Amino acid sequence: MDAINLSSNVDWNFIEEVAKESGQNPSLCYQCGNCTAGCPYTQYFDYPVSQVMRLLQAGQKDTILNSKSIWLCATCETCTTRCPCEIDVAHIMDTLRIIARRENRVSEKDIKLFYDTFLDSMKQFGRIYEVGILLAYNLKSGHFLADSDLGPKVMSHGKIHFFPKKIKGRDKVAKIFERFQDKAKKHD
Ligand code: SF4
Ligand code: SF4
Repeated sequence: MDAINLSSNVDWNFIEEVAKESGQNPSLCYQCGNCTAGCPYTQYFDYPVSQVMRLLQAGQKDTILNSKSIWLCATCETCTTRCPCEIDVAHIMDTLRIIARRENRVSEKDIKLFYDTFLDSMKQFGRIYEVGILLAYNLKSGHFLADSDLGPKVMSHGKIHFFPKKIKGRDKVAKIFERFQDKAKKHD
């Protein structure tokens, strides 16, 4: 990986934006590396989570928002629990994804598509409908047969059902989504 010049393309407002939206203080990070040492996905990240924190302190907005790391993060919160400065690092990663999405700078489009498909299912059925999610995701992503071999196996064990289950209060769940979408529009 090429070295990054931290003194170029600096966006100081970005630090403030992330701090405000996440409620965290990135300047507290002293690069101990505990978060990265516990991160189960670090081998797939282009920048380990402690480096994301350092890039944030240096106002490297473009590098962060173009990174794969913020999308590959599984929000497991190991980084948060390990941080000696009590920074909610996972929340910062979440905030970075939200900003990347808002600015239409999504480096991992399939992951965003999966999130969107998952949330559509929640909104429509009040809980996730696994078969519907898989079919919709595979169709929209063009990965038509991805994981199709697993379907019969999990179905035969009764783990997932072919048709969605009706739950009480679906309308209430849909209203939660509407409230959030109204709020997001106001933010735009
Ligand atoms: S929340 Fe994300 S960055 Fe933090 S340890 Fe888990 S996968 Fe890694
Ligand atoms: S654990 Fe906390 S202080 Fe240590 S590198 Fe990660 S964010 Fe920084």
